[in-house]
Amino acid sequence: YCFPFASEAMHKIFGVRPEEVRENASKVFALLHPEDYDDIMTSIQISTKDLTQWSEEFRVKHDNGEVRWLFGNSIPEREPDGSVLWHGFITDITKQKLIEQELTESQQRWKFAIEGSGDGVWDVNVQTQEANYSKRWKEMLGFDENEGLASRKEWIKRIHPDDKARVLAAGDAYLEGRADTYIVEYRLKSKDGDYRWMQSRGMLVSKDAAGKPLRMIGTQTDITERINAQLTLQQTREELELTLDRFKDLYEFAPIGYLTINKHGLISQINWRACAMLGMDRHSLMDKRIAEFIDEDDKQRWSRMYQSIKALEVGEELSFDIKFRLNNGNTFHGNLNCIKAEEIDGQSIRITLEDITTIKKSEAESRIAAIAFETNDGLMITDAEKSILKVNKAFTKITGYSDDEVVGKNPHMFASGRHDAAFFAAMWESINNSGQWSGEIWNKRKNGELFPEKLTITAVKTDKGIITNYVGTVTDISYIKAAADEIQQLAFFDSLTRLPNRRLLMDRLKQALASSARSGRQGAVLFLDLDHFKVLNDSRGHDVGDLLLQQVAERLTLCVRVGDTVARLGGDEYVVVLEDLSGDGLETAAQTETITKKIIDALNQPYWLDEHEHHSTPSIGISIFGEQPITMEELLKQADIAMYQAKKAGRNTMRFFNPQMQTTITARVSLERELRKAIDKKQFALYYQIQVDNTGQKLGAEALIRWVHPERGLVSPAQFIPLAEETGLILPIGNWVLDAACAQIKAWHKNALTRDLTLSINVSAKQFRQADFVAQVKSAIERHSIDPMQLKLELTESLLLDNIEETIQSMSALGELGVQFSLDDFGTGYSSLQYLKKLPLYQLKIDQSFVRDIVTDSHDRSIVRTIIAMAQSLYLNVIAEGVETEQQKELLLSHGCKRYQGYLFGKPVPIKEFNAALKILPRQDY
Ligand code: C2E
Ligand code: CA
Ligand code: CA
Repeated sequence: YCFPFASEAMHKIFGVRPEEVRENASKVFALLHPEDYDDIMTSIQISTKDLTQWSEEFRVKHDNGEVRWLFGNSIPEREPDGSVLWHGFITDITKQKLIEQELTESQQRWKFAIEGSGDGVWDVNVQTQEANYSKRWKEMLGFDENEGLASRKEWIKRIHPDDKARVLAAGDAYLEGRADTYIVEYRLKSKDGDYRWMQSRGMLVSKDAAGKPLRMIGTQTDITERINAQLTLQQTREELELTLDRFKDLYEFAPIGYLTINKHGLISQINWRACAMLGMDRHSLMDKRIAEFIDEDDKQRWSRMYQSIKALEVGEELSFDIKFRLNNGNTFHGNLNCIKAEEIDGQSIRITLEDITTIKKSEAESRIAAIAFETNDGLMITDAEKSILKVNKAFTKITGYSDDEVVGKNPHMFASGRHDAAFFAAMWESINNSGQWSGEIWNKRKNGELFPEKLTITAVKTDKGIITNYVGTVTDISYIKAAADEIQQLAFFDSLTRLPNRRLLMDRLKQALASSARSGRQGAVLFLDLDHFKVLNDSRGHDVGDLLLQQVAERLTLCVRVGDTVARLGGDEYVVVLEDLSGDGLETAAQTETITKKIIDALNQPYWLDEHEHHSTPSIGISIFGEQPITMEELLKQADIAMYQAKKAGRNTMRFFNPQMQTTITARVSLERELRKAIDKKQFALYYQIQVDNTGQKLGAEALIRWVHPERGLVSPAQFIPLAEETGLILPIGNWVLDAACAQIKAWHKNALTRDLTLSINVSAKQFRQADFVAQVKSAIERHSIDPMQLKLELTESLLLDNIEETIQSMSALGELGVQFSLDDFGTGYSSLQYLKKLPLYQLKIDQSFVRDIVTDSHDRSIVRTIIAMAQSLYLNVIAEGVETEQQKELLLSHGCKRYQGYLFGKPVPIKEFNAALKILPRQDY
């Protein structure tokens, strides 16, 4: 080592002249302090080897024993010859070192003292950011004495983010001279991650040569406990204040007024709400009396109540409603609740005051609403989700559902199924757009019945337009219908007799003409006028006349069928419209005549008018419609003309408008007259038609009546039996047949060939329905002393079904005698198997209409087959009538029918012929 160059200062520092060390450096090295020598030499060697900067503080010891601190700094460089050349300087730092040392020593003492107090100590070089933190400092954060934390930067990292800026600013302010002291309170992150509150105090202890701050030292105290306590306190205080505020608000702005009346009866305390209610500020209300604010109407009551309040014991309460009137004239209903309290300065009354005006009003309103709710219309209220909240009694009456059964349900439960989804969609669209829908809708009652109702749905909305409810109003249309009926009654009915008036008559007539044109069935219009009605009216007054008109109306109504019309045109004129008569002109006339006769008969019966018997007769004109087109007016006119003809003919009679028809009627009348004569003169005969079985055995005969007319010859029953039935002449005729038949059976007894034959007779409905029919048959049997088993009665289906219970009774009674029954014309009417089972029948007689076409018509064939099968299943005997050909017989036989009647075996013939034929035809032939 050598120093190729050394400055003059080298001499000052080392006391060695530069020339002396130019060749050999050992003189310099010899001066190094023995304690530092090894370190210096090592660092020089390392620096030489690595060519890194060398920088050291070290001591030299002079011969006189003086020790000086030096600071050397040098950069090594490699020379071209491989040697290393150092450039550097050396400074004497002895003075600084001494200060520093002194400082450090005092600091150490100070530090020790502080640490004993529990505070931590820190020491920072503000330029290099190097820092020292004491053991206690570290402990406060949970670190070990030996653990890291050697720089200010690390400290900064641990400062709570919220506090960092504030802490650093405080440091800057102090170092820059803007603050006298450095004291900060902040949060520092401990080893376990928790923040702890710290208080740091510090002071600048050294500056560098340029006068810049260099070192700061300070203490740090853990103030977490204190801060927490402070925070808690503050929080509590804040909360307390809030609570107090809240109480204050609660008191002031409560929906109820609070006031206190002192022992003098004056207001001593009052909240904002009560002030607002009484319409004055607090100041003005002080020392006022409540009485000043009571409405005139309630003043007396107030003074009574006030006496009661004063008389209260401490703690006792009194509550009542009273009407207030303010200075501005406004009134409100207040509810007062008064309580007697004991205060320092005597007894007082604490009062709560509540404005119950709206409650009172809504009470009244809800009472009104409750009453209004129960109207005749059904009401249903739903919420916004269409769930039913409430229905009224009328609703229950209409639908059959009670409140309990529908509340909470969707109104869809009433759906009839008659409206499709599009219908309801349109309905709800209307409700949502316009707030309402109204229309007729079919709904379903609880009993399942569908009914039309008028429904109005209204949406109930808030001020802001939000739908809260729907109200459905259901109007019972049947109720409206009843009203409509009433209106109709007035418009279309005669108020005296309740019969249709002219207007309705014309309407009905129009329909009757139309329906007749469609169906081809004819009808008749009867124009009826009471004979000499004017006399009654004039002699006994209108009231009595009215009584007659009413009774005539009743009798007329009873004479016609439900579908027919009886109208009153006014005065004593009536019109009867008969519909659905025959399609045949003659028959229509006959039917009309029968009914008209009935009417004349009914109106001829004595009347009882105001305690007097009265006799009245009608004159009736008849016009038939349906044969040719005719207008209503013409029709009525014709009937009217016919009525005058009836009057002309002497009254109490009828006349047909058509003169030709008149002739027919006359013919019928004469036929009837002749028939009566025929009965008297017994111009009848029985013809006998044989009945046989498949083996040809003769079973018996059917007796068929013939009218042996002196001029006309033999008249077939088809020509007079219907008339006989209508006129009731069938009864004597029927009786004659019964008697004649029994006589014949008796006669047959004498002959072996005829002894076992059965004889069938035809019995008409009217005849059978006679109350004593059973007795008549019985007496005939007894009179002729015949075996009842040989008598067979032929009945028709319609007869049987007419009054089934009565029929069964009569048939059973006769059946017990031994009389047999055959069901005639079977297959043409309607017979329920169930009824057939109940009847004591012996035989079914297949109608000749099926037999006629049995060979050609497969349909008829299958009917016959069915009838036979049915007869077999009911254990009934079956016979076919109208058998004319061998083919028919064979077919019937092939289906199981073994009994026959018809021209094939014999036509109906007089008894002589019949008996003769029995002898001619040997048994085995058939
Ligand atoms: P019905 O009781 O059905 O009598 C059968 C009718 O068929 C009889 O007519 C008879 O002559 C006819 N007939 C019998 N076999 C044949 C045949 O093979 N071919 C055809 N084409 N016809 C046949 P009739 O005697 O003219 O009697 C007509 C109706 O008058 C009877 O029908 C019956 O309903 C009624 N009738 C006859 N006699 C009496 C009676 O004494 N009292 C009552 N209430 N009605 C009677
Ligand atoms: Ca018959
Ligand atoms: Ca028959």
